[in-house]
Amino acid sequence: MASAARESAQAHVERVMETGRRRNPHAPEFHQAVKEVLESLVPVLERHPEFIEVGILERIVEPERQIIFRVPWVDDRGVVQVNRGFRVQFNSAIGPYKGGLRFHPSVYLGIIKFLGFEQIFKNSLTGLPIGGAKGGSDFDPKGKSDGEVMRFCQSFMTELYRHIGADIDVPAGDIGVGAREIGFLYGQYKRITGLYTGVLTGKGLSYGGSLVRTEATGYGLVYFMEEMLREAGQSIAGKTVIVSGSGNVAIYATEKIHELGGKVVAMSDSNGYVYEPDGIKLATVKQIKEVERKRIKEYVNHHPTAKYSESCRGIWGIKCDIALPCATQNEIDEEAARLLVKNGCFAVGEGANMPSTPEAIKVFQEHGILFGPAKAANAGGVATSALEMTQNSMRYSWTFEEVDAKLKQIMVNIYRNVSKTAKEYGMPGNTVAGANIAGFLKVANAMMAQGIV
Ligand code: NDP
Repeated sequence: MASAARESAQAHVERVMETGRRRNPHAPEFHQAVKEVLESLVPVLERHPEFIEVGILERIVEPERQIIFRVPWVDDRGVVQVNRGFRVQFNSAIGPYKGGLRFHPSVYLGIIKFLGFEQIFKNSLTGLPIGGAKGGSDFDPKGKSDGEVMRFCQSFMTELYRHIGADIDVPAGDIGVGAREIGFLYGQYKRITGLYTGVLTGKGLSYGGSLVRTEATGYGLVYFMEEMLREAGQSIAGKTVIVSGSGNVAIYATEKIHELGGKVVAMSDSNGYVYEPDGIKLATVKQIKEVERKRIKEYVNHHPTAKYSESCRGIWGIKCDIALPCATQNEIDEEAARLLVKNGCFAVGEGANMPSTPEAIKVFQEHGILFGPAKAANAGGVATSALEMTQNSMRYSWTFEEVDAKLKQIMVNIYRNVSKTAKEYGMPGNTVAGANIAGFLKVANAMMAQGIV
């Protein structure tokens, strides 16, 4: 009986994935994300055949709405530029759509769909009432003047504003979208609609932003890691850590690691990495990346003891105890994973979205590496965004300590929920399955209750 049920759940998952591949050609990242989630749901479908009967999987892999639009703007030379804008409103079963905007030349519909799909389960794991969405553009803010970025953001919002709202869809930042971009987007939304509402998160503190939002994803990642290590009888103090990237997530993960007595010895950007055996001086990285918007290789001009190497991949060859990939998707492949394990790395926490390939995750699991999957470990950013929405609704601001304490509790709860769910489904220690199942169950139950919509 059990094996007949397994076969039918397995066959159902295969069929849904096949339909997805047919419907969405040329979207490998989306299929990768769907496969990882759906395959871990087989035991859930065995226990809950009613999910199959009402087509939960068929519906959950199909976005409620996908918006693609033209973004024309004029550069500093007076030349007209045209980019493509996206917003994929994936699932609103448990709350208004919520998810970041990514501005990067690699953005196309498949990337936004992979991120939006992941966002459904991540948002569910936070325990807060937020649905899943993602958006962005193939615009590259790198090397653009503030004026060009502003004109682009204004044009982007001139279309996006009609699809979003404080109780409808609340975008935030992601790669290439930080405080500057959110400010320009917010200004244009307010100008068009005349509304002063919490329609975006990651806002500046003087106009409705929340304390700790800037730090939240990086801090949250380290809180998650701390709890995972605590359960394994370990701690961050005294550990050597590698952090890839040098953007928002990477910088604040590094800050929290240092605060807890760990030592980050390497950081990177898309051109290369710096290695500083005595520990990265974070103030220098902040100055280079947040203020001057320059490349990480500038670091060695300030600290000649550090070494810069071209190619960001080399960072995984550095000996460490803990690795925190905080740059982009698929940055750790099987070879990089094997190198990390060989060099003694025993814990990996995903700050970026889907930074490890399926083959890399398999290597980590085979070697018993403590693993924090992205949708659980990096959920601190969106959780704090939801806290920003709460404060906006209340017309009130919590202190740094209040928000930080809530963030920490949310990350501890996420880890415990993931760990408990993995045990309940007979896979103790399998945080990938635990996160997928725990995130899915809440959304699936809400979809069951709301009928076929
Ligand atoms: P930022 O734009 O602030 O920083 C991104 C960093 O990653 C930069 O150092 C960038 O280098 C590097 N990077 C980007 N693309 C690539 C690439 N293709 N190859 C190598 N390096 C690359 O973004 P965030 O820190 O906000 O986001 C980083 C990751 O974390 C993303 O996966 C994002 O989806 C995820 N995330 C972010 C959240 C947030 O709150 N910001 C929340 C949850 C997840 P360079 O400057 O050279 O491009």
